[in-house]
Amino acid sequence: MQALVSGIEAGRVASRNGREAYWEELARGQSPGIAVICCSDSRAAPEEITRADPGSMFVKRTVAGLVPTPAGKVEGAWLRLYGGLTRHLGMRELAGAWYGPWAAIEFPVVHLKVPNLLVLGHSGCGGVALARRPRGEAGHLVDTDAWVDMVRPTVQAAARKAEREGRDVQLATEHAAILWSLRNLLLHPRVAARVRLGELRLYAGHYDIASGRVALWNPETDAFEPISERAPGICDKSEADACSCGEHVKRALAALSA
Ligand SMILES: [Zn+2]
Repeated sequence: MQALVSGIEAGRVASRNGREAYWEELARGQSPGIAVICCSDSRAAPEEITRADPGSMFVKRTVAGLVPTPAGKVEGAWLRLYGGLTRHLGMRELAGAWYGPWAAIEFPVVHLKVPNLLVLGHSGCGGVALARRPRGEAGHLVDTDAWVDMVRPTVQAAARKAEREGRDVQLATEHAAILWSLRNLLLHPRVAARVRLGELRLYAGHYDIASGRVALWNPETDAFEPISERAPGICDKSEADACSCGEHVKRALAALSA
């Protein structure tokens, strides 16, 4: 705790010194250029990885950086009814638990209208490793086990395929989890609409902790490749009307886990 206290003061002095006008402007509002969805892992902070300035990056962190499947029409109707019932029963948190993961995505995408969104996984991800194991095996991680359960079939299928082909199983499953989240982003009607209109570009990346290198998924080759000046994203098409990125990501994900 002492390190935290002295770190706050040292950070305040170093960041404010000579940049008072910048911080006063920032205090009036935010207009980040990118939203990043990534893992809560202490070694994979996107602001540190990219040296991003405060205010330039909206970050949502959660175990394994997973984006759940958005609620469909039936689930939405049920949740509205259920939400009403839970309010009467004093159990508001139940509906919030469903919508919570999406709140930190909707806000930057729909309200702040960020032009870029990156799903960023990382090497040695414990959340992905947990999803490779059968549910309930890690007895003390009850909440985490339930959270990663949604990606478990995809991760386990990718692990089996990587084992058959003699590839790095942990890396293959991390790639599969990243593309699974990317697919779910494109299932959200308002995210997909901004992609189709050419207003929002999506990226999927993997950060290697030891080297500090980031590989981006290239939709032209369906492979994670070293980051370059020409960062490939979706949708990069000139005719955004013809966008079929959702189908493309589904096929790429199926190829990883078939
Ligand atoms: Zn992780």
